This record gives sequence, C-alpha cells and structure tokens, in this order.
Amino acid sequence: MFDHIAFPTPYQTLTLPSSVQLTIKRLDLIHPQISGNKFYKLKYNLLAAQQQGLTQVLTFGGAFSNHIAATAYAAQRFGFESIGMIRGEELATRDLNPTLQTAYDFGMQLHFVSRAEYQLRHEAEYLQQLQQQYPQAFIIPEGGSNALALQGTQEILSEDDRENYDVICCAVGTGGTIAGLIESSSAQQQILGFSALKGDFLKRDIQQWTHKSNWSLTDAYCCGGYAKTTIELLQFMQHFEQQYAIPLEQVYTAKMMMGLLDLIQQQYFPENSRILAIHSGGLQGKLKTY
Ligand SMILES: *Cc1c(COP(=O)(O)O)cnc(C)c1O
Repeated sequence: MFDHIAFPTPYQTLTLPSSVQLTIKRLDLIHPQISGNKFYKLKYNLLAAQQQGLTQVLTFGGAFSNHIAATAYAAQRFGFESIGMIRGEELATRDLNPTLQTAYDFGMQLHFVSRAEYQLRHEAEYLQQLQQQYPQAFIIPEGGSNALALQGTQEILSEDDRENYDVICCAVGTGGTIAGLIESSSAQQQILGFSALKGDFLKRDIQQWTHKSNWSLTDAYCCGGYAKTTIELLQFMQHFEQQYAIPLEQVYTAKMMMGLLDLIQQQYFPENSRILAIHSGGLQGKLKTY
C-alpha cells in the first residue's frame, strides 16, 4: 500500500531580499489526489484498517476538509468503502463545493449532520453508537489526527531536513501534522506553526501529542478564522503564485506563506536562518478568484 507514491519530494528554494534562506518542501506534488500531509496522516490508519480486516473507513469533516477528500480517494484506491460525516445539515440541499464534490466522485457516502450531532464527534458514547451502526468501519477522527496519524507525520522530515534547517514551518488545523514534525525534529530546530483558525485551544491539543518545547504557534495570520479569507490574503496568494510559480490555497498554505514572509520582512528570524516551509497540499479546495 502507498508504494506508488512519488518519492523523493521536490524542494524549491525562493530568492528573497533577505539573508534568510527559505526552502519549500513540496508535499503538494507527492500525488495528484492524496497530496500533502493527508497522505502521511492516512498511511498507518489505512494499514491498521486493513490489518483489522475492515472494509469501510468512516471519518468527520467540514465542507472545506481536505482530509475528507483525501480519505475518499485513498479509500477507493485501496479497496475500502468510505463514509463522511459532514458538518452542517443545510449543505445537503446545496451544490457540492469542489472538496465535497471530489469526495463524492471518489465514492464517499456523504452524511450531512447537524451541528449538535457533529459536536459529539469525540464522545466515546457517540462513537460506540456509530461503530454499532457501521460494524465494518474503521473510524478516523476529524482532520485525521490520531496516534496513527502522528506515526505518519513523523515521517515528513527526512534525515537531511533535520540537519539542513534551523526552522521548520507548517500550517496548522487540528495539530496532527505539527505534532509529528515536533516529535521528529532535532533538538536545535524550532518548529513554527501558522494556525488556520483562531484560538488558544490548539496549543493544548498539540501538547497532548508532544512533551517537547521547541515549537510555537501563531494565529496572527488566520484572517479571522477557519476558511475565512480577506482581500489581502487572496491578493497575496495571487502575487506569490505569479512570482514563484507555486500554487497555494486559501485555507492553510496561503495563510502560512503570508505569515512567514511577513515575519521574514520584520526580521523575526536571526540572520542566515535556514527555513524549511512544508507545503501541505490541499489544492483541490483552491478558490478560483482570477
Ligand atoms: C489538513 C491540512 C492542514 C492541517 O493539518 P493538521 O494536521 O490538521 O494540523 C494543513 N495544510 C493543509 C493543506 C491541509 O489540508
């Protein structure tokens, strides 16, 4: 399973008017559908499902969840049925957005649930009930973040990445990716997360996965919250793509790059810092604004 994924991952170093060196690790290019961090998060989950002899994968997500799209593809590719519990009953009567359309096209059964029901997604009792309803399902939490995901995201950094960079940057949603990066980083490295959503609870979520302290998180570039955008963000995304020929999307990677370039300009990093930014993919959900 997963043997066909294209390795090694391409790197791209940007020319910047600064002494810092910024390199992007293009996880968006590892596979056209299971791109980015979601490949690493699903890998050991699907292997476990297979080992347990289960035939379905059930998971949770909002309308903009790249995890939902990636799971639908990976499930179909590796012979599982997939079930998506999608937040928001009202979506059932609307046209599917590109992310949900992708999931649907890969055969995912979409169940639109009320916000009240979606709130229960981490409750043991609710999960037991779902498991009874779908006895053949391997249940993966929202965003794909669990211990098996962490085992996968610890494989994102290579030995060379640990040696050649001082700072590792990534976009943060549920925290499974940054936690794997932190756990697999070397002691001299700093991991800097750019949150795609507002709030401090994420720090505590990440602390559940790691006891290391060589990391920090900022929500200063979240543009008001999850999946929210500003004109400034969309303009930044367009300029960045024109300048460097690297596609971004508005939910995660554009916010990270906008924040990172802003911090570089503010001379937040010591001179000659070597920064590696993880391009975590998600491009199927890209907003077409131009
Ligand atoms: C899901 C996703 C993230 C966030 O990953 P978490 O492990 O949930 O923090 C970042 N970038 C992209 C493109 C994603 O799809």
